[in-house]
Amino acid sequence: MKKLLEKLYVTNTLAKDEIMYILSNINDSLENDLFRLANLTKKNHYGNKVYIRGLIEFSNFCKNTCKYCGLRCQNKNINRYRLMKNEILECCHRGYKLGIRTFVLQSGEDSYFHDELLVELTKEIKYLFNNTAVTFSIGEKSRTCYKKLYKAGADRYLLRQETVNKNLYQNMHPRMSLENRLRCLTNLLDIGYQTGSGFIVGLPGQTDEILAEDILFLKNNNFQMVGLGAFIPHPDTPLSSYNQGSLRKTLICVALVRLLLPKTLLPATTALAVISPDGWNKGIIAGANVIMLNLSPSSARENYEIYQGKNDVSDEAEISLQKVKNDLKNSGSQVDMGRGDYIGWNY
Ligand code: SAH
Repeated sequence: MKKLLEKLYVTNTLAKDEIMYILSNINDSLENDLFRLANLTKKNHYGNKVYIRGLIEFSNFCKNTCKYCGLRCQNKNINRYRLMKNEILECCHRGYKLGIRTFVLQSGEDSYFHDELLVELTKEIKYLFNNTAVTFSIGEKSRTCYKKLYKAGADRYLLRQETVNKNLYQNMHPRMSLENRLRCLTNLLDIGYQTGSGFIVGLPGQTDEILAEDILFLKNNNFQMVGLGAFIPHPDTPLSSYNQGSLRKTLICVALVRLLLPKTLLPATTALAVISPDGWNKGIIAGANVIMLNLSPSSARENYEIYQGKNDVSDEAEISLQKVKNDLKNSGSQVDMGRGDYIGWNY
């Protein structure tokens, strides 16, 4: 195990069976070595900086039926909402005043926001807020749509693969296809977005072999951003009775991803903060270097329930920012309010 960790640190590569071996066999003391090496790797590239993003959850309408997600269209126990353009711009304004320079616009797959509306929104944000990056996280769209948004000024796009295992993908996403998900990711990379992908740790049916395949998929595509979070069962979904994903395993995956993709932008996700009071900090110590603050109005936030407990950890952005700044001091990190692009990226 020690040799493997050393190889990983020096070469930033591992074979599938080696990843599986680490996932299945790592003990507490070597786990600390893994986190130390991941943190060191992050510091070699990004120093002590942790980038801040502002998340705007602008619609919880969704046509999909992802089995883990509370926004799935079959969930009737949810108040659906969408923010209008002026409300979204209002969120940006609030974030901008706080110093935030990346807006992450996230929603379910809501056809109300057709291509032209999204183009208009992008252009307006880029015009009104100087030197900001726009990130979309709105699911699967046509190549034409991705191109239009990119031309309008969108910089980044988040689309988790969720899993590249065909059976698990099909089981978790009735009526969707892995083929289309992967096609979307190829298009995003090809168009020139800083592209993010990732997965949930602890989904029912996920094995260490599947996890290893999903980690290698991220490595092989050299994504500029990676999002990982623990599975949190939502009561109004078919997976309500399954166990929550493990914090420990999620952190091990974060560290492995940092070591395999040294330069990737890797958030300590809200899903980590939900399952542990010190989740954000633990993520940072395991190699994460991004934190997303919630800029959605509280009425919207209450109803954007992908998983439960999300709102207990998402204060008003002003308060969160102060908390994050204090917490990070303890782990020797520092908030950076810049755009925080991928190292060496020309935009
Ligand atoms: N509609 C967009 C945004 C999805 S929400 C899209 O399809 O990309 C962002 C991420 O939250 C999802 O990609 C999924 O990985 C994660 N997520 C959803 N439900 C979850 C749950 N119950 N527990 C943990 N993560 C979840």
